[in-house]
Amino acid sequence: MAKGNINVSVENIFPLIKKFLYSDHEIFLRELISNATDATLKLKHLTGIGEAKVEYGNPLIEIKLDKDQKTLHIIDQGIGMTAEEVEKYINEVAFSGAEEFLNKYKDSAKDSGIIGHFGLGFYSAFMVANKVEIITKSYLENEEAVHWTCDGSPEFTLEPHNKTERGTEIILHINDEDKEFLEDSRIRELLVKYNKFMPIPIKFGTKTETLPKPEDAKEDDPAPTQEVDDIINNPTPAWTKQPTDLENEDYKNFYRELYPMQFEEPLFHIHLNVDYPFNLTGILYFPKMTNDLNVQKDRIQLYQNQVFVTDNVEGIVPEFLTMLRGVIDSPDIPLNVSRSYLQADGAVKKISSYITRKVADKLKSLFNNNREDFEKKWNDIKIVIEYGMLSEEKFFEKAEAFALYPTVDGKYYTYEELYNAIKAKQTDKDDKLVILYASDKDAQHSYIEAAQAKGYEVLFLDSPIVSHLMQKLEGSKENITFTRVDADHVDNLIKKDENKISKLTEDQQKELDELLKEVIPAEKFTVKLENMDSDAAPFMITQPEFMRRMKEMQMTGGGMFGMGNMPDMYNLIVNTNSELVGEIISTKTRKKQERLINQSLDLARLSQGLLKGEELTNFIKRSYEMIK
Ligand code: ADP
Repeated sequence: MAKGNINVSVENIFPLIKKFLYSDHEIFLRELISNATDATLKLKHLTGIGEAKVEYGNPLIEIKLDKDQKTLHIIDQGIGMTAEEVEKYINEVAFSGAEEFLNKYKDSAKDSGIIGHFGLGFYSAFMVANKVEIITKSYLENEEAVHWTCDGSPEFTLEPHNKTERGTEIILHINDEDKEFLEDSRIRELLVKYNKFMPIPIKFGTKTETLPKPEDAKEDDPAPTQEVDDIINNPTPAWTKQPTDLENEDYKNFYRELYPMQFEEPLFHIHLNVDYPFNLTGILYFPKMTNDLNVQKDRIQLYQNQVFVTDNVEGIVPEFLTMLRGVIDSPDIPLNVSRSYLQADGAVKKISSYITRKVADKLKSLFNNNREDFEKKWNDIKIVIEYGMLSEEKFFEKAEAFALYPTVDGKYYTYEELYNAIKAKQTDKDDKLVILYASDKDAQHSYIEAAQAKGYEVLFLDSPIVSHLMQKLEGSKENITFTRVDADHVDNLIKKDENKISKLTEDQQKELDELLKEVIPAEKFTVKLENMDSDAAPFMITQPEFMRRMKEMQMTGGGMFGMGNMPDMYNLIVNTNSELVGEIISTKTRKKQERLINQSLDLARLSQGLLKGEELTNFIKRSYEMIK
């Protein structure tokens, strides 16, 4: 039996491993299964190029629990290790054998999918085990199996073993404080989380399978059953295949495999597949956006060579696309670094812009190939697209081709189409194109109607970030402005060069102005006299576009500094040409004037949904009094 000391630095490293290295103890299993997978894939590669003269067969990785012994076993049928290799690869910490292997077989091994570079891999076993054993037999002929044992101190023992089959068994003697890892359910949970799509089949126990009844079975004979290996994973998930080999149905099935608790079908998918200048495969799905909390839970999963790494893809995928679902698999993303470093990393930046471009291209082709279907889906995807247009300049440019602007009556324009459709009627006296929109078809009904009566087109823009997008469009297009239909009286929405005359004399107008200012609370309404058609509403409440939009932008993040908790600002437009206003001015008693003003103001507020509570009660009482 050989005894020895593991490289001196280990002494300092063991407590580190236990405490700080991985905040998540559970990843030890992923690391060990990755090693087992590597060892199996290496053998596959060596038999493939004729260097290993053994039968590759159909190797499995088996995970076994022994509750009596308090051990967890990871058993593979890969290349195994000779005594020298154990000394070299296991005892020399931080010496990555995978890296050496990759260097040696650089050209031929590029596509073998070897995992490696997860860092301290094997030693993470000591996070949960106080003693670790390795029993391993190399694929090489005439090499004896060896048994390595280490109890967490830098001392190890190495002795011959009678194992006859090729491969490696790792035995973890689980710590008392980590006994959760002796529970079947916990191990199964980890296997499903990290290893669900690993390339070598992983067996965890057996399950009972029902067989078809034999022909001569009687009616009540129970169907025969058999015990079969319970294989945890799907070694060939959809993203590892070529898009040409997959049907729409395969993508949908894979979605279900990824998110078994998701019952809604995805709207469409994007298959990612690059090998230069970086390696990346994956499938992204556009889900139907709902208020469902699952949106938060079912996120894009990041894999490296089919090993689950994380479902926090922040910094790798542009932020607006983190609302999507699916998988990304790339060995080129550095993992042992902070997120901020990640964002500055050149390769990661390239990956992020590649994904953005692919998503834009896919959206464009969906739009071009089936516009009707795209329009139907618009409502469910617009948030992502609008968010992308706001946050990624490149995407903003590309989105010109497919971003849609729906109208209140269900038409969908691209920006260019919209421009051509409205420029004749909706250009104001300063040559500015005024794009009218509504955000709530019911609340703004009367304004929409008035605008349509003038032959204006009214867009229906209701997503929470659309105010930011309008701001951006106003900044990037020439001479345009967005105005909500209730921002002003319809005659003033798009100012043309026509001056209406007032029925009131200048003195009367002054008198009216003073009277209104005395009766109407200035902190709530800014009174504006307007000379409008005599049959237009006498009083009308509008909300100026600028202030309202600033406030909306502030509520959804961004906007102007120091606008916190602004009160709502309203204008009260008073039509000097209306009959009622004429009556107010000619009424003799001040009391009656005030009553007419208050009643009219309340009616205007009522039509805007602004009359509530006690004020509404009083209004109703007053109205009954009047018609008595
Ligand atoms: P890495 O996997 O990053 O190289 P590890 O510390 O996990 O680092 O493993 C060190 C080396 O030990 C591996 O590169 C490999 O050569 C060897 N090794 C580990 N586990 C196995 C195994 N199950 N079968 C064969 N060799 C293994």
